Amino acid sequence: MLNASGIFFFKFNDVGGANQVAALGYVMIHGIPFFLFPWDPTKGLTKPEHESCPLWVKLHNVPMVSFNKEGISRLASALGVPRQMDACTSSRCDKSWGRPGFAKVLIDVWVMGELKRELEIIIPSLSGGEDTTVKIRVEYLWEPIQCTHCLVFGHKIGTCAKAVMARKDIQKKPVVGADDCGWS
Ligand SMILES: [Zn+2]
Repeated sequence: MLNASGIFFFKFNDVGGANQVAALGYVMIHGIPFFLFPWDPTKGLTKPEHESCPLWVKLHNVPMVSFNKEGISRLASALGVPRQMDACTSSRCDKSWGRPGFAKVLIDVWVMGELKRELEIIIPSLSGGEDTTVKIRVEYLWEPIQCTHCLVFGHKIGTCAKAVMARKDIQKKPVVGADDCGWS
């Protein structure tokens, strides 16, 4: 069952099964995260706020010197917490040959701020020359909606509690009359 707020309800035969599924935290379905949490029908229903959101990310133009599990993990850490490397990327990391096009990683991306589209890495020169700066293009296979007011994922400005509070604060501010500013 799906309600108007985009929350799906699943019914389980026993609490143990429900808790087992909720313990996963989320599942990825076609690259889109579905957050899982137990619901007590006697309590109200609110969407929990998340500090991070699991997203599949493609890192393009990763230099050969960084195309290994440690190098890709470091790059992914600039975006959030690396969770999983896809099987193809992982097998390429294990081989020391071939020219990989991109690295695909599941990352718990921080939900505050704008999504990073580019990363830069500096590769030190082994011959004593200048270091090389390489730009890594970051592609998200799916992107959640993001509030333009508070920059948090998962809601739009129309349903943002912080935006409503900000509007109320503006309305509360006293209007400065002509007499108050000494220009009468
Ligand atoms: Zn917001």
